[in-house]
Amino acid sequence: MMKFNILTIFPDIFNSYINESILKRAQKKKLITIKTHNLRDVISNRHKTVDDKPYGGGPGMVMMVEPIYKTLKKIKREKKFRVIMLDPAGEQFSQKTASELAELNQLIMICGRYEGIDARVDEFIDQKISIGPYVLSGGELPSLIITEAVARLLPGVLGHQDATKEETDALEGYIEYPQYTRPETFIYRQKRKTKKLSVPKILLSGNHQIIGEWRRKHRK
Ligand code: SAM
Repeated sequence: MMKFNILTIFPDIFNSYINESILKRAQKKKLITIKTHNLRDVISNRHKTVDDKPYGGGPGMVMMVEPIYKTLKKIKREKKFRVIMLDPAGEQFSQKTASELAELNQLIMICGRYEGIDARVDEFIDQKISIGPYVLSGGELPSLIITEAVARLLPGVLGHQDATKEETDALEGYIEYPQYTRPETFIYRQKRKTKKLSVPKILLSGNHQIIGEWRRKHRK
């Protein structure tokens, strides 16, 4: 059982996504748990403030260290855990990182908002991860991306185990081959002409050896 703990000021964002499809089934089968922790829950001030102006001036607000520290302290640690901060300047997330994280028992992820997070939070984290070279408004989507990429590598999460095996080949420099499903010929209209797109004949041959060769040759 792998645990995902997500620290956020917008826990409702997660409800829909984690309660559908693969993540829903994985939780039902008790292969994973996903728990969100509202950073405002540990704040005693009346306005539940989690951000403040930056020292030294500058635009925007900065997330305070205390709510994050207090929330982290409340989370029970499993044997092999990692505390991750979502950060556009962090290490680029990849399939390789997902495989490494899938070896752990628990991922604790901190979602930033505003202009960023008080730098003292660095004392309480193990790794900073970026999901790509662009800036989003918060760490919620990045944390969901990591959750899904890691969860689908765990035994039993995907129905078809070969799917992850073939995707994992991407680690050795291969990317998947082109895939097709029904219909055999797709007919459509464009600029008043009827056009056809057919599945490569080899894939209909039933000969797994030549299909395998074709797929190796056509890896993207
Ligand atoms: N001023 C910050 C900077 O330039 O690094 C941007 C902060 S961003 C508006 C707010 C939060 O969104 C960040 O603290 C981080 O948690 C999250 N975030 C934004 N883009 C991200 C990315 N590409 N990967 C991971 N997290 C990201």
